[in-house]
Amino acid sequence: MAEQDNVFRGGQGQVVEAETFRDSVGTMDQSGKRKWVFPRKPSGRYTNYRTIVAVFLLALFFILPFIRINGNPFLLVNVVERHFYIFGQPFYPQDFFILALGAITSIVFIILFTVVFGRIFCGWICPQTIFLEMVFRKIEYAIEGDRNKQMRLDRQEWNYEKIWKRALKWSIYIVISLIITHWMFMYIVGYQEVFDMIKEGPLTNFTSFLVMIIFTASFYFTFAWFREQVCTLVCPYGRLQGVLIDKQTINVYYDFKRGENRAKWRKGEDRAAAGKGDCIDCNQCVVVCPTGIDIRDGQQLECVNCTACIDACDEVMVKTGLPPGLIRYATEDEIEKELPFKYTTRTKAYTVVLALMIGFLGFLLYNRNPVEAKFIKPAGSSFFVRDSKITNTYNYTFLNKSNRDAVLTIKVLEPANGEISLSQTNKIKIKKGDITKGTVNISFPQKDIKLSKQNISIGVYDENGKLLDTFKTYFEGPFKLQF
Ligand code: SF4
Ligand code: SF4
Repeated sequence: MAEQDNVFRGGQGQVVEAETFRDSVGTMDQSGKRKWVFPRKPSGRYTNYRTIVAVFLLALFFILPFIRINGNPFLLVNVVERHFYIFGQPFYPQDFFILALGAITSIVFIILFTVVFGRIFCGWICPQTIFLEMVFRKIEYAIEGDRNKQMRLDRQEWNYEKIWKRALKWSIYIVISLIITHWMFMYIVGYQEVFDMIKEGPLTNFTSFLVMIIFTASFYFTFAWFREQVCTLVCPYGRLQGVLIDKQTINVYYDFKRGENRAKWRKGEDRAAAGKGDCIDCNQCVVVCPTGIDIRDGQQLECVNCTACIDACDEVMVKTGLPPGLIRYATEDEIEKELPFKYTTRTKAYTVVLALMIGFLGFLLYNRNPVEAKFIKPAGSSFFVRDSKITNTYNYTFLNKSNRDAVLTIKVLEPANGEISLSQTNKIKIKKGDITKGTVNISFPQKDIKLSKQNISIGVYDENGKLLDTFKTYFEGPFKLQF
């Protein structure tokens, strides 16, 4: 990297102090004041691909809350009431370890993905980038025009044109922020609840209304003003890049070997013979960058891999008759040492860990009991003897995690000869997603109880006789001397 930095920074063959650009943030001046970025509207091959991906992801975001599987929401994360549905499968706080493992697996996946593909997530999938670049920025271009018109509008005083353009833009931003907030709430409480709240009005649901206002204001602040600062200053994923990427990671790179010595374009000139590189120093890759950096300085934390500079430079290359790809997806080794992409030991190790975790997660999901049963002895309770039988009382709790109502029966699995007696019938009805509690007596013939405390196993069955869950607990009997 050092060689690369020494070469590019000056341009025109000059060499200036290495990495000085890393001492400052591209979107701040020396006094720490925000430098507003007016990126030129990107266009080209990658912008088209990204638009298709963004449209697909936005459609998914707006459709998913209405999709139901077996009557359950496809995705619901109700942290307040602790209801979770993922792919239509209900999850409960009791499944916390599965959710935690799922979260850890996702983090490992992101790490592995970043090691190999750099910040592709930031440029192509991250909601911040998609909403900012594909929704809010597009509205800005439609109302205020491209970069130069936006800069002119920004400089001019508050005349009629500036007032109506800004008022229209900000009003639309508020409406979109409101829409995003409502949809986000659908992922938390469900779409029906959100529609009901809208019908009932803000005064009936004042707390929810306040929360909505706070979130709408946050989205508005983020997309109207804070913008790329989320990626360059706040996002922890962005900050992790320094430790995750290496010289074999695919990223957006400027081919400095090909591009330097950069020099302005002169028609008809043989640049190779004149000792000039392919970069014509047109600055198009800089003005198009939404984070305000110069990719020719090398890989920087601010780069969200949005590919806008690739498209901008390719357009210039095509116009000048030079081969495209001066800025492209590549690895640092590919640019510096002309080495092809390699699947490194570190990448292999991450893949193995990830595969194991996904396998284990799948195993846990597949073997998740549809009913969770617990039998707890009430505090201070002991045994009682009646009709030559020793009886213990247990409080039971059943959670029906399945997608249907169930009728449960209980049996003692070990040791044999145990008898169950419930207050009314040995059949317990439980609706899907419900928790039911009650009391059960378990008795054994007096002669079978040899220990004052002995382990027992209780099984819970469905109406078809299928064992749904087992629970191990202990059974108390009279103290007997053992010889
Ligand atoms: S340097 Fe290029 S890829 Fe990186 S953020 Fe700027 S325009 Fe996007
Ligand atoms: S767009 Fe390409 S040619 Fe123009 S300055 Fe950037 S790297 Fe050089």
